[in-house]
Amino acid sequence: MTTAKPPASHPARVEKSDAEWRAQLTEQQYQVTRRHGTERAFTGCFWDHHEEGRYLCVCCGTPLFASGQKYESGSGWPSWWQPIDEANLALRRDASHGMLRTEVLCAACDAHLGHVFDDGPPPTGLRYCINSASLRFEPKG
Ligand code: FE
Repeated sequence: MTTAKPPASHPARVEKSDAEWRAQLTEQQYQVTRRHGTERAFTGCFWDHHEEGRYLCVCCGTPLFASGQKYESGSGWPSWWQPIDEANLALRRDASHGMLRTEVLCAACDAHLGHVFDDGPPPTGLRYCINSASLRFEPKG
């Protein structure tokens, strides 16, 4: 007997004004999450971070990634081969900067997180390349 995967339950929407986001976030968090910025490689606080726990959206607290699926991509950005729940992410085609990429956003609050590429490790072959500035770490326990 197989257990069917339950239907994805999307997180509740979180909507705030630009002024509210500015007041809540640091300048860098704001630029990355609300203005689609990118932190420079090897500068964020999580690319070389190895504690056990979860990474939440820095804007709204939605659980996005966990330490168990984090891996060393060598890119200078924290990378995962799988999110905690795909329903917590929104994907969008991104043709900016002369490249065709898939943007990854928080499904609850539309925070820009990073991009997903198809050059990741097994079992998914995916590389979620995420800005540290978009994340807040919650240690296990
Ligand atoms: Fe969010």
